[in-house]
Amino acid sequence: MCDSFIPNMVYLAPTSKEEYFAMLNWSIEQNEHPVAIRIPCNGVISDRRKIDTNYSNLNKFKVEIKGENVAIIALGDFYQLGENVIEELKNKIGLNATLINPQYITGIDSELLKKLKENHDILLGICGCMAQEESVVNEIMSKYKYVDFVFGTHNLDNMVNVINNSIKTGKQNVEVYSIEGNICEGIPEKRESKYSAWVDIQLGCDKFCTYCIVPYTRGTQRSRKKESIIIEIEKLKSEGYKEVTLLGQNVNAYGKDLYEDYTLANLLIDVAKTNIERIRFVTSHPWDFTDEMIDVISKYDNVMPYVHLPIQSGSDRILKLMGRKYTKEEYLTLYNKIRTKVKGVSITTDIIVGFPGETESDFNETLDVVNTCKFDGAFTFIFSPRVGTPAMKLPDDTPKEEKESRLYKLNELVNKYSLESNLKMVDKIVKCLVVSPSEKDPKKYMGYTENMKLVNIESDKDLIGQIVDVIITEAHSFSLNGKYIES
Ligand code: SF4
Repeated sequence: MCDSFIPNMVYLAPTSKEEYFAMLNWSIEQNEHPVAIRIPCNGVISDRRKIDTNYSNLNKFKVEIKGENVAIIALGDFYQLGENVIEELKNKIGLNATLINPQYITGIDSELLKKLKENHDILLGICGCMAQEESVVNEIMSKYKYVDFVFGTHNLDNMVNVINNSIKTGKQNVEVYSIEGNICEGIPEKRESKYSAWVDIQLGCDKFCTYCIVPYTRGTQRSRKKESIIIEIEKLKSEGYKEVTLLGQNVNAYGKDLYEDYTLANLLIDVAKTNIERIRFVTSHPWDFTDEMIDVISKYDNVMPYVHLPIQSGSDRILKLMGRKYTKEEYLTLYNKIRTKVKGVSITTDIIVGFPGETESDFNETLDVVNTCKFDGAFTFIFSPRVGTPAMKLPDDTPKEEKESRLYKLNELVNKYSLESNLKMVDKIVKCLVVSPSEKDPKKYMGYTENMKLVNIESDKDLIGQIVDVIITEAHSFSLNGKYIES
């Protein structure tokens, strides 16, 4: 099939939840053969799918057309990883492929899949976290015969072969490992930036927070070998990268599964010694954040003073129900240690509101913690049940409107403290890594301070890729304005 046609690829760029659903709906109804449609949702959706079948005039969203002949539905958080492997697919077997990313759509929608397959002459596959679940795989195999291939997250390195087999045999090819495989080294990385790179140091997670699907879908924690990480970072540095972010579901537990006595603190020291200019790490679980780590962050100039430290709730009762394994007091002790020891640090957090059983009083405890910590920023969410997690089974009688009102109240408070924190930076000269032209004003540039504040920078010179001095002139809740200072 793939030899015989060059289908079209339509790239759609939604800017809101409504547009996303409208485009999704439009994509299903297309009859141009063959076509694959890519609709990155990029966070524009915050609740479950609602397709509006009456939406019209959608051609205005069409921004690019090119040849494609494989469409892969990337479920869960596979999307970014999948994009890297797509390149491999193109290079190895000459297929033009695309990812369709119905992120935040819970479950697999049989109508969507069927219509995509019926209306488009494409090879259709499903991959990612949710495809890793046994019940999902069984359902696909028994009901959705028109899906050409399925694979999970643990055998990414074999993705190309899975697809190739589907093409050769013309049969549904399912390859999902029920246990996690080894870390796949050598998968080509697709870098979004030429100056700042994500470096995976660990996959999976052992924490089993009761609301989270990650340990079930991505498996238990597997750390990459320190030598491979250092080689990757040395290479990035030699290619001109200025910044690396060490990435894992729970980076502070790095090495526990692999070494007797080598932790994230040790890894940070080794990465710092490569002399790459900026080092960051996400995401931290407060449980594994050691004093040694705090010492390393404060000691090495190229380990950036920024910590993302999710608290999730300020109520010990809710933290226990979430399975977070720390108390509010323990979190605050850690928080204060970081604030005291790391000069100029900024600390952000994650907070879930409306967890099953959260009372007004539990929520007020969360507000108390926000008032105490005065976070530099926070990612806030309304609890969203995930199939297969213990939290899904907890009784939840808080009305949706009440949850939304709590979120609103929380955001007001969070934004107030973000602004306060940003205002303290006005008139200061800071170092910024300039990453791109400003999204809002093409005459300005966008850069990040050492403590991860976003700055829109005025400059007559092209500064992209450089670390430059900037004087901060104005503060908003989510960004700063500044002027480049020529040295
Ligand atoms: Fe999920 Fe993070 Fe908890 Fe691991 S630590 S189970 S990734 S929420």
